[in-house]
Amino acid sequence: MRKQARLQAPADRIKNFFEVALGYSKEEAEKEAKRCLLCKDPLCVKGCPVRIDIPSFIRLLRENKPQEALAKIKERNNLPAVCGRVCPQEDQCEAMCILNKKKIPINIGALERYAADYGKAAGKQLTSEPQASEPANPRTRELKIAVVGSGPAGLTAAADLAKMGYSVTLFESLHKPGGVLTYGIPEFRLPKKIVMDEVEYIKGLGVEVKTDYLVGRTLGLAELFEKGYKAIFLAIGAGLPQFMGIPGENLSRVYSANEFLTRVNLMRAYAFPESKTPLNIGTRAAVIGGGNVAFDSARCALRLGAKVSIVYRRAEAEMPARVEEIQNAKEEGVEFQLLTQPVKILGDEQGFVKGLECVRMALGEPDASGRKRPVPVKNSNFILEADTVIVAIGQTPNPLLSRAAPELKTNPNGTIAVNEDYMTSLPGVFAGGDIITGADTVIAAMGAGKKAALAIDRYIKTNG
Ligand code: FAD
Ligand code: SF4
Repeated sequence: MRKQARLQAPADRIKNFFEVALGYSKEEAEKEAKRCLLCKDPLCVKGCPVRIDIPSFIRLLRENKPQEALAKIKERNNLPAVCGRVCPQEDQCEAMCILNKKKIPINIGALERYAADYGKAAGKQLTSEPQASEPANPRTRELKIAVVGSGPAGLTAAADLAKMGYSVTLFESLHKPGGVLTYGIPEFRLPKKIVMDEVEYIKGLGVEVKTDYLVGRTLGLAELFEKGYKAIFLAIGAGLPQFMGIPGENLSRVYSANEFLTRVNLMRAYAFPESKTPLNIGTRAAVIGGGNVAFDSARCALRLGAKVSIVYRRAEAEMPARVEEIQNAKEEGVEFQLLTQPVKILGDEQGFVKGLECVRMALGEPDASGRKRPVPVKNSNFILEADTVIVAIGQTPNPLLSRAAPELKTNPNGTIAVNEDYMTSLPGVFAGGDIITGADTVIAAMGAGKKAALAIDRYIKTNG
C-alpha cells in the first residue's frame, strides 16, 4: 500500500481550492530517497511509460541535487511537475517497485514532484535544453510542423519536434493551452500555475502557440498543408461527453462533467467573485459515475458549497478512480450511493432539477469486461434529493475534425485510426493520445506524443 505525502486537513481543504497534496519537505524527500534500493535492473523504469531513469534521479535527490535530478527526469519527460502530481503511479512505476514485496513502495511520484518543484525553485535548471528565458532552439530545419491540440500529447510532441530543430506551431481551440490539464483536472489536484509554467517552458523551446483556433473550422487540414506545414499531428483528445439517455437530462442544472469542470477550472467559477463567472450549484449535487472525472466533479461541487453524492452502479472495488482520490473524497464527506442506477431526473415547474430517481442494483454474472454485471433489483426505486446533477459516465472523441475531413479513417468507437507509426489514413497526418485510444492517462498521451514525434521526423526525412 503506497503512502501519500502530507495533505491539507479535510476540514480545511473542503473550504478552499488550494492543492490538497502538499508534497515533501526537503527532509522528507531525502528520507524517502534513502529508502530506494537503487536497483541495478530497476523494474520501476519498465513501469514508466516514458522510461524515466528513476534510480538515477533518486540518487541525485539523495545527494541533495534537485536541479540535477530535474535535468535527469527532463531527459525523458517534458512535464515532470504534472506527472509527479497526476500519474496513476500505483499502477505504473510504483506498482513495479521491488519494495512492494516487503514494505511500502517508494513514492516515486512525490519524489518526481519534489525534484520538479525544488529543482526549478533552486534556480536555472541544469539541463542541456533551453529555458523559457533563453533564446529558442536553433531551427536547424526550417520545415514547419502543425500540432493540433495542446493537451499532454500535443505539448510533448511539439516540445520534442522543436528540440529536433523543426518550426512547430501548436493550434488550440480553447483560449488557454493545456487540454484536460487546464480545463479538466481541478486546481486542488493540479494548480494551473504549474501547467502554465510547463507551457512556458515548451514555448521557450521555440514552439508557437495559437489559441482560439479550431482546426476543422477556423482552418482545415488541407489548408494547413497549403500554408506550408509538412506534417500535422492531431492530438485533439476525447472531449465529447456521453449522457445516459434517461428522461430529464435536458433540465436546467444537469451538467456533463466536462462542462461543469470547464466552468469551474477554465472559466474560474471557483474564484468567484474575483472571476465574475459564478456557477450556481444549489445545495445538493448528485454526480453519476465512478472514475477520476466523477471524483473531480464531486470534490469541486463540495468546495462550491453543495452536499454531494456519488451515484455508481457497481461496488466501490470496481470504481475506476484512483484509490487515493476515493479516499480523499471520503475524508471530505462525499457520500456514496453504490450499486445504484439513475433512471430519471425529476424537474420542477420552472424546469430545474429537483431530484434523481434511482434503482438499486445487485451484481450478477461477469460481463465482457470481466466485471460482475450490475442488474436492477425489482421494486427498489427511490428518490435521491438533488438540485444539480453532473453526468460523468465517460467521454468519446469529438467528431468535428473527422467530419470536416472525411478521408480521415475512424474506428467504430470514433477514435482516429492510425498505423504503428501513428500515421492516419491521410499521408503526413499523424494522431496520438486520447484521440486514438479513447479516454486514457496523461502519461500514456505523452508517450504517444514522443513516439509520434519520432515517426514524424522519420517521415519528413524520407518525404521532405
Ligand atoms: P486532451 O488533454 O484532451 O487535449 C486535447 C486538446 O485538443 C484540448 O485542449 C482541446 O481543446 C483541443 N482540441 C480538440 N479539438 C480541436 C480542434 N479541432 N482544433 C484545435 N484544438 C482542438 N489522467 C491521469 O493520468 N491522471 C489523472 O489524474 C487524470 N484525471 C483526469 C481528470 C479529468 C477531469 C479528465 C477529463 C481526465 C483525466 N485524466 C487523467 C485523463 C487525461 O487527462 C487524458 O488522458 C489526457 O489529458 C489526454 O491527453 P490528450 O493530449 O490526448 O488530450
Ligand atoms: Fe512514474 Fe509517471 Fe513519473 Fe513515469 S512519469 S516515473 S509513471 S510518476
